[in-house]
Amino acid sequence: MAKKAKPEKAKKGISKIYDFGYLRYIFINIIETLLRMFPLLCKTGLIKIGNPDRTSPVFLTCNYHLTVERVKRALRGMDCYLLVANSRGINVWCASTGGHLTNHDVISVLKTSGIEDLVDHRNVILPQLAATGVESKVIKEKTGWNVIWGPVYSEDIPAFIENKLKKTPEMREVKFPLLQRIEMAIAWAFPISILSALIMIPLWPEMIFPTAFTIWSLSFFIFLTFPLYSRWLSSEGRRIGFIFFDFGKGGFQLILWGIVMLCLIIYSLLAGLTLEFVLRWAVLSFIIVLILSMDLMGSTPLYKSGLHKDRFLEVFLDVERCRGVALCEQVCPRNCYRVNRELHTTTIVRAEKCVRCGACIVQCPFDALYFKSPEDEIITPEIVRRFKLNLMGKRVIKIE
Ligand code: SF4
Ligand code: SF4
Repeated sequence: MAKKAKPEKAKKGISKIYDFGYLRYIFINIIETLLRMFPLLCKTGLIKIGNPDRTSPVFLTCNYHLTVERVKRALRGMDCYLLVANSRGINVWCASTGGHLTNHDVISVLKTSGIEDLVDHRNVILPQLAATGVESKVIKEKTGWNVIWGPVYSEDIPAFIENKLKKTPEMREVKFPLLQRIEMAIAWAFPISILSALIMIPLWPEMIFPTAFTIWSLSFFIFLTFPLYSRWLSSEGRRIGFIFFDFGKGGFQLILWGIVMLCLIIYSLLAGLTLEFVLRWAVLSFIIVLILSMDLMGSTPLYKSGLHKDRFLEVFLDVERCRGVALCEQVCPRNCYRVNRELHTTTIVRAEKCVRCGACIVQCPFDALYFKSPEDEIITPEIVRRFKLNLMGKRVIKIE
C-alpha cells in the first residue's frame, strides 16, 4: 500500500515541478533567443523521458541547448529515449549544412550512449533538417540502425507518433511564421545593439539609446514585413532582390549611404555644423547600413543572399537512375517533390520553392539528383556530401 501512495505524492510533486519547469522553460527561451547567434553547448549522450522500455522510440537531436529544451518539452508525457549528438552547440540545420553534425557524430552517440543495450529495435528518429549532413545509408551500413526522418519542428513529434511515424506535407515543410520572425529579429538586434553601444561609448555616448532604438526598430521592420517583400527574393524575382538586399555584389546599401552622406555634408555646410557632427553621423549611418547589408543571410530558412554561392543552383533529376524510393520527398523542407508510388517515379513539381539545401541530393541512394549552376557546371552528389557550406555559402568544409 505504501508503494501505491508514493506515485500519488510523486504526481503532486511533478505538477509543482511542472509549473516551475514551465517558468524555467520560458526563461531559457528568452535568454537563449537573445544569444541565439552564438553556439550554446549542452551535454551529449542519452536522456530518458518518462519510463521507457525495450520497445520505446529513440529520438536524436543536436547539442544546441535551446533545441534540446524544446525537444524535451515536445516529448513530455511520452516514454522514450532522446540521444543528444555533438553538433558543437549549433542548431540542427546550420550544423548539418555546415559540417558540424555529421555521420560520425550520429554513429558516435549511437555506439557510446548505451542505447543499444536498452532497446530491442534499431530505429532512430532524426530531425528532418539533419538530412543535409547525415546520410541514412551510411548510418545503416556502419551501425545497423535505420534512420527515420522525423518532422521539421519538434512540436509536430506527438502528431507524427500518432500518425504511425508518417509525416504530412505540413510536417515536412520549413516555414517562417510570425513567432520565428520575432525570434530572429531579437536574435539579430540584441548582439548588434550591444556591439554598436560599445562603439558609441567613446564616440557619441548620448546617441547610444537612439542607435539601439534604430537597430531594434529596423530589425523588427525587416523581419515582420518579410512576407510582404519575400516574393521579390524568390527565384522569379531574384534579380530585384539582388539589387535591393545584396550588399556584396549589388552594393545598393553603400550607394544609399553615399547619398545620405552627401545630403548630410550639404546640410552641414548650409547650417554651419561642425566636422565632428558629420563624422559621428557618418559612423552611425554606416552601422545602420551594415545592419541593412546583412541581408537576412542565415536568418531566414527561405532566402539566401547573393553572397551565397549556391543561390543560383538548380536541382536536376536523372530519371534513368531514379527508383522512386521517395527519400527526396521525405527530406525536402520545401515539398518540391511528388512521388508516384505505383509507378516508382518522381517529379520535381515545385522547383521554384527550392532553397538549395542539398538534403535530397545527400540522401538519394541512387545518385539520381545533382545541382547545376547557371554556367552548366555540375555539382555531383559526392561533392554535396563531402563539402559543406561555410558562412558565406561556399562548399569548402571537407567531411572525411
Ligand atoms: S530521386 Fe532518388 S531519392 Fe528521389 S525518388 Fe528518385 S531514387 Fe528516390
Ligand atoms: S529540392 Fe531543394 S529544397 Fe528540396 S531538398 Fe532538394 S535542395 Fe533542398
